Amino acid sequence: MNRKPEWSPRTLAAQALGKIDPVTRGVVPPIHVATTFIRDEDNGYSTGFVYGRPDNETIREAEAVLAMLERAEAGALLFGSGMAAATAVFQALDPGDHIVAPRVMYWALRSWLMTEATRWGLLVTFCETDDLEQLKAAIQPSKTKLVWLETPSNPLWTITDIAAAADIAHKAGAKLAVDSTCASPVHTQPLTLGADVVMHAATKILNGHSDVVAGALAAREDDAFWQRIRSIRKMQGGILGPFEAYLLMRGMRTLHLRAERQARTAMALATRLSAHPHVARVLYAGLPQHPGHDVAQRQMQGGFGYMMSVQVNGGEAAAIATAARVRLFKRATSLGGVESLIEHRASIEGPGSPCPPDLLRLSCGIEDEDDMFADLDDCLKAAHR
Ligand code: PLP
Repeated sequence: MNRKPEWSPRTLAAQALGKIDPVTRGVVPPIHVATTFIRDEDNGYSTGFVYGRPDNETIREAEAVLAMLERAEAGALLFGSGMAAATAVFQALDPGDHIVAPRVMYWALRSWLMTEATRWGLLVTFCETDDLEQLKAAIQPSKTKLVWLETPSNPLWTITDIAAAADIAHKAGAKLAVDSTCASPVHTQPLTLGADVVMHAATKILNGHSDVVAGALAAREDDAFWQRIRSIRKMQGGILGPFEAYLLMRGMRTLHLRAERQARTAMALATRLSAHPHVARVLYAGLPQHPGHDVAQRQMQGGFGYMMSVQVNGGEAAAIATAARVRLFKRATSLGGVESLIEHRASIEGPGSPCPPDLLRLSCGIEDEDDMFADLDDCLKAAHR
């Protein structure tokens, strides 16, 4: 009779798991700001709250929503940024451990792996992780402890087969972690495909309003690796602030609405732009001609995400001239907000970037699709006049 209803993630997220404030019965729980908590008379902490660096109720509430969205049996952890979350995973390794990472990935993390990670004694091999033969060849038996993926990967939107990569990693005794920022838990749940850890720049579509910098990890199993990551966040103090966690939770209540709409718009724009006379190529996994389309169709549900890139006829100068004229699209870095953004990536990415100079990255927001296309069409035409 009292069976718990099995509601969908969409329902659970819309109500932020249905938590009601016990004092006021408010449908939005308060923001908890206390940094310290009263001990019991027997000197214990029966509430489980000891000190604000690891313990905060607002953080835990937001983590529970994310863990539900990612089907994360071992729970989730929020960090002060996506980079803080990602680097905590690498810091949980030991000096001398080997990592395989994608050649096409978020540029700042690639740069950190090439500089800081190697200074800490980690060994990194970059390869095209979407090519499973290359991925297998990059593994160093008994030395490789972590395979890192990003799919779809920034800014070329290559797709890696998560289940196949998990198999390769696990056979070698390595963990698999996936940066799923640009898929979002609406379209892909990497833990259900065999990944051990999933990472998000929660700054992006999870929050969705370009007003919070946050990062998140979620794990399948509460094993020694995850406990090490938990301890790193606790000891190094990388936890998110409670106000940001509250905003993130508010954002996640509308995640499904936004992600589905943004993916629909991205698909429509990608299709229209592919036929544009001033566009050489559109990179979007939803397009049948994209090399990762078949894998994406298997591992992404309900859409292919909100990110795409276009390569403009006329090279770098034409790409920059196109971006220079936008009115609806905002010329800014970042992604995943309700407002559409455009960026010439090659000028921001450092050495070793696989980004071609004629590429413009688009983050599709929730605006009217016809208005978005008209803005890009005007700019492309003006840049080619
Ligand atoms: N991963 C991806 C795919 C990103 O796009 C970003 C930021 O743009 C990050 C990680 C890093 O996130 P943050 O800027 O919150 O540190």
